[in-house]
Amino acid sequence: MAEDIIGIDLGTTNSAVGVVESGFPILLADSAGQRITPSAVSFGVDGGVVVGGAALRQRGAGGSVITSGKRYMGSRYAEVRGDDFCVPLVEGVGGAVAFDVGGVMVTPEEVSAEILKYLKSVAEERLGRTVGKAIITVPAYFNDGQRTATKRAGELAGLEVVRIISEPTAAALAYGLDKLEDSSRIVVYDYGGGTFDVSVLELRSGVFQVIATAGDTRLGGDQLDEILARWCCDEVGVFDYDGLGDFDRQRLLDAVRLVKEALTDSDRAKLQLPFFRDDLNIDLEVGRGVFERLIRAEISRTGRYCKQVLLDAGVTGVDKVVLVGGSTRIPAVRELVGEVFGMDPDVSQHPDEAVALGAVIQGGMLSGALREMVLLDVTPLSLGIETLGGLMNVIIPRNTTIPCKAGEMFTNAVANQESMVVRVLQGEREMARDNWELGRVDVGFSVAARGQARVGVQFAIDEDGILEVLARDVQTGEDTVLAIQSAAVDVSDDSVEQMVTESVDYAFDDMAERVFTEARLKAEELLPAVEAGLAQVGGEMAAEDMAEIESSADAVRELLGGSDANQLKSAVQKLDKLTEHMAAILVEKAMEAALSRKLEG
Ligand code: ADP
Ligand code: MG
Repeated sequence: MAEDIIGIDLGTTNSAVGVVESGFPILLADSAGQRITPSAVSFGVDGGVVVGGAALRQRGAGGSVITSGKRYMGSRYAEVRGDDFCVPLVEGVGGAVAFDVGGVMVTPEEVSAEILKYLKSVAEERLGRTVGKAIITVPAYFNDGQRTATKRAGELAGLEVVRIISEPTAAALAYGLDKLEDSSRIVVYDYGGGTFDVSVLELRSGVFQVIATAGDTRLGGDQLDEILARWCCDEVGVFDYDGLGDFDRQRLLDAVRLVKEALTDSDRAKLQLPFFRDDLNIDLEVGRGVFERLIRAEISRTGRYCKQVLLDAGVTGVDKVVLVGGSTRIPAVRELVGEVFGMDPDVSQHPDEAVALGAVIQGGMLSGALREMVLLDVTPLSLGIETLGGLMNVIIPRNTTIPCKAGEMFTNAVANQESMVVRVLQGEREMARDNWELGRVDVGFSVAARGQARVGVQFAIDEDGILEVLARDVQTGEDTVLAIQSAAVDVSDDSVEQMVTESVDYAFDDMAERVFTEARLKAEELLPAVEAGLAQVGGEMAAEDMAEIESSADAVRELLGGSDANQLKSAVQKLDKLTEHMAAILVEKAMEAALSRKLEG
């Protein structure tokens, strides 16, 4: 099996991890069932490090909780000093920025590494095996220094970062290479928690290229939360937002975020914070209209970046606008995007998961896990036809790469037969009745003695998985064709597994039945011939030889009534052997007769 390459969206607000499993890109959930992990790291007073939702819950518990640490990846202290951040910023090694975590210096890479370590462990737990390789996404605007820092974070987490890809490229991959024609242009509008970015990509011979990108690292869902929180403070009219302590402010922001998210689906939402301060209870109702008015200016700014990016890309129109990022769930955002680009945006992608999924797809393409499954399809089960005695005759074995073609020749079972039913079967069992019938076709042929008429059967599966069965009467050259839509390839994993398991479970019985049937068919052919031969050969063969053939034929007849496949098979073989001498005498006799007829004539 190809070595796993996990795909990771290391987001400012949220992160996710996934892998290609059995040919499908999937995201992996942690032990709590969550596929989305808040990009939060808590450094406890006891030195313990906690990541994700658990880290967020430790805010206010004495330690340091870092959120949105990604903002400082690859930054210089001189550029960011004085920023308002959840922990103090300090100057680290060589002028790089570092976080002061209870007196200990921690770099942004180290914080990201904790998140990556956690995601790696989630993947390993789910998969039950260790993983060493990863694809990590970064914003399109990340410079070399920021990309190198991200790579280093991966290495600190014990991952070999096989490739860094940009978030819009990943989102475009998740949207689907297959849905776009070559040289089509796609816009990825990504409105997340802390940042906004919009990119124009072009698909060139199967590869997405970012041709322009624009955005703002201070324009995200967090800003919307702050706007709503300030409005609440004004409404209550008792305290000032800027005057709130860290703890109160966080409580308020957490509460308004829920209100904001609720307003995506409802017209109104309640903000309730009992005993917010001393005996002050906050109890407000917020209508969607009010919220939309509050955030209008903020959302309009994203529109300006959209126009900017089109200008930078030097294009006037695009083929698709794909929305990703949690904040694109807001109805007003979708409306604005529609207005700016003059088309309904594509909302087929999961806003929180598309970027990670794209990274997973890229990983699958590199490891081979996707190429094998998606581009080179194989037949999940064997395909064949029913032959004499109800046996399955496999024409295309399971796991054959498609497109493919195979054929075989069959003869009539009965003398003067005028047609033959070709039953197209799918499955792994020896007997036709235990497999699935995909279709049947009646093939007519010229009347002939038993075993004389010949029918060629050919199976062909094209790239789309369509099975075409062609039956040809060899004598007349007449074809009968049956096309079976994708059933040959489109079988659910469960039924494939069931079929394969059954074929293993019944392997012994199935094989015995096949051996018995084949021996029976041979006996049915042999016995009448033996009888006719004995009648003709009279006098020219030793009596004891003839008696031996008789008793051997009787043994075969008796075994036909039983069920012992191996005994029947060896009895038939013995009879076949014994009659060789008789057959030779008969041939000689026939030749003599022919010769004397010739001499007489
Ligand atoms: P990032 O890419 O920055 O890590 P995400 O794409 O995960 O972030 O987006 C997180 C943001 O999406 C948060 O601000 C969150 O409040 C917002 N969000 C999530 N769901 C909704 C919703 N239903 N309505 C509005 N905003 C939402
Ligand atoms: Mg994101």
